[in-house]
Amino acid sequence: MSLLELEGVRRHYRQKHTMFAKAGHSPVRAVDGVDFHVDESETVGLVGESGCGKSTLARIICGLEAPSEGAVRWDGAEVAAMRPADRARVLHREVQMVFQDPHASLDPRRSIGQSVAEGIETHRLLPGNRIAGRVQDLLAQVGLNPDHADRYPHEFSGGQLQRVGIARALAVEPRLLVCDEPVSALDISVRAQVLNLLNRLKRELGLSMVFIAHDLDVVQHMSDRIVTMYLGKVVEDGDCDDVYERTGHPYTRALLSAIPRKLAPGERLERVVLEGDPPSPIDPPAGCPFHTRCYAAIDRCATDVPVLRPIPGEPARHRASCHLADEISRSRVGQVQTVADPSF
Ligand code: SF4
Repeated sequence: MSLLELEGVRRHYRQKHTMFAKAGHSPVRAVDGVDFHVDESETVGLVGESGCGKSTLARIICGLEAPSEGAVRWDGAEVAAMRPADRARVLHREVQMVFQDPHASLDPRRSIGQSVAEGIETHRLLPGNRIAGRVQDLLAQVGLNPDHADRYPHEFSGGQLQRVGIARALAVEPRLLVCDEPVSALDISVRAQVLNLLNRLKRELGLSMVFIAHDLDVVQHMSDRIVTMYLGKVVEDGDCDDVYERTGHPYTRALLSAIPRKLAPGERLERVVLEGDPPSPIDPPAGCPFHTRCYAAIDRCATDVPVLRPIPGEPARHRASCHLADEISRSRVGQVQTVADPSF
């Protein structure tokens, strides 16, 4: 049984009527029928371009948005059917979010010690006389000086504030951290330190993670499994090495081929260039939603909707929604090759 499981989850928004445009009848399909799971102590990397539905999915997992349809299960129990106290325990304690912008997620008028203590106080996890000690332990655990608990956010760098955000999340003893672009607002020089901290905490505390990032190099470094989303749907899902080495969906292949790489002598890389923008989630194309941008599209892609299913010859966990997934997973398109490679 997975720790977290989403089944058939949809999040559709009604279009707003504004001064400049009438509301349309078709909804915005931000998340459109997603099955997704996270196992105990597993990190799942969620990738895709802006607007593909990753952040909406993260907000649904954290209970910040309710799905329009579908089920969210925690430890096998449906969250929407839980007693209010159990639902609050799951959504306010056991699932915690680490945000992209550490400045925006902390109150500038409160010391970092007060911010870290907030969850402990709200959930009455410790008697008052033990909270300060616990806050100091948490600050030390994330690599900050425990004696700086009385300082305010403006006295810290971005990397240090992200560590405070992580300490704040850990304070309520979560089981799942949802990290939404946790290093993209930080200087390149401190990104690796924060990523290594998250990896260490995952190991030491047995945490599960959903890790959202634009940078697929970072996602590879962090994740056990990769899930690719396009236009509100999951288009590929599999263990990290399988997805990176034998990518089964042309969209994932395009994202991976865009990772900046230094090529060794004798190596070459023909990148898969993604032309244009994703279609509107209000009026997605018929057939395969990716067919308007796909380098491998054939006639049937414009009419037949592909289903997310295991790729022949691959571990059963490696699935893609592409009519040609078998062929794509065996090709070398968008991957680094040696010039002498006969399949090039
Ligand atoms: Fe491309 Fe067709 Fe596969 Fe869609 S089904 S990803 S259009 S090859």
